Amino acid sequence: MSSIHSTISLTARGAHYGHLAIPYSYNLGGWANLQVPIASIRHGEGPTVLLMAGNHGDEYPGPVAILHLWRSLREHDVTGQLILIPCLNPPAAQASTRLSPLDGKNFNRCFPGNPKGTPSEMLADYLTTILFPMADVVIDLHTGGRSLDFVPTAHMHLVDDAAQRKAMFAATDAFLMDVAFLYADVAGSGLLPVEAERQGKIVITTEMGGGEVVPARVHRLCQRGLRNVLLHCGVLRGKAQTREELGLQPARWVQSLDRDDYRFAPESGLWEACVDLGEAVRAGDVIGRIHFLERPDRAAEEVLANADGILIAGRGPSIVKQGDCVGCIARDVDLGHVGLLD
Ligand code: CA
Repeated sequence: MSSIHSTISLTARGAHYGHLAIPYSYNLGGWANLQVPIASIRHGEGPTVLLMAGNHGDEYPGPVAILHLWRSLREHDVTGQLILIPCLNPPAAQASTRLSPLDGKNFNRCFPGNPKGTPSEMLADYLTTILFPMADVVIDLHTGGRSLDFVPTAHMHLVDDAAQRKAMFAATDAFLMDVAFLYADVAGSGLLPVEAERQGKIVITTEMGGGEVVPARVHRLCQRGLRNVLLHCGVLRGKAQTREELGLQPARWVQSLDRDDYRFAPESGLWEACVDLGEAVRAGDVIGRIHFLERPDRAAEEVLANADGILIAGRGPSIVKQGDCVGCIARDVDLGHVGLLD
């Protein structure tokens, strides 16, 4: 049984704005509550869409896009129900950190959660047991944060269920990005999208660049894509656009489904990128080098591409530790082969 209290009804018709209150203690606040802003707009008939960002604190285009919606949407714009959580982890966003400063947790490794756990675990449990079951569509907007820079992309898992897979493909495509990405989990379990997928939801996720500097272009892509996806899902009144209608080429679908597509630093040192984001690589190409400040006599350690493809993500900070992901090679996808075309 969750101890989290919603200050608004999540089933009432109309537009309601409030907080999820998550009890926790600190030394100057024995009865403190972490307050996570939430809105519910329910009007007419249609799907329920749960829209979230700020899962990791240092990822800002998603919260900005949802804050725009929060202030601009009116009840009659919605057909169904739209639940908005602009920032799942406000203390981390304010601290520019991936992990929660309250409990040190990576929120995206906390699922299915624990109603008696830390604030991050309690909120994960609330999503798993209360919000996901209400939703037809679950949207979780990410970037690579400070650690990774990404080609701006919408991405998805290749879920087993064929109908769910096709619905997720169409929704991911509706984000209108130049590049769409099939990804694998190489860094642990307990992810938000995996729990939502397990519950059969249409799950839409993004990697809208990375780092603390967010170019205006990336904000625009995120806001355009998000609005179009909500139209595509039928929770906003109006018609979604296609890339073709916008005069754009079809999205380039790429995948990184082998563990070796994720390139890790073999040693700690100073990272030199040798390939720009989105650039084509061939197997064996040097994507970057690790230099050793304390050993100028040592040759730099090269990190190679494992396959032909593009560099879809690269290391953010120049200082790397052994085992950090320094790059991700994505290969072109045969959509028919992965059951995404008829
Ligand atoms: Ca992220």
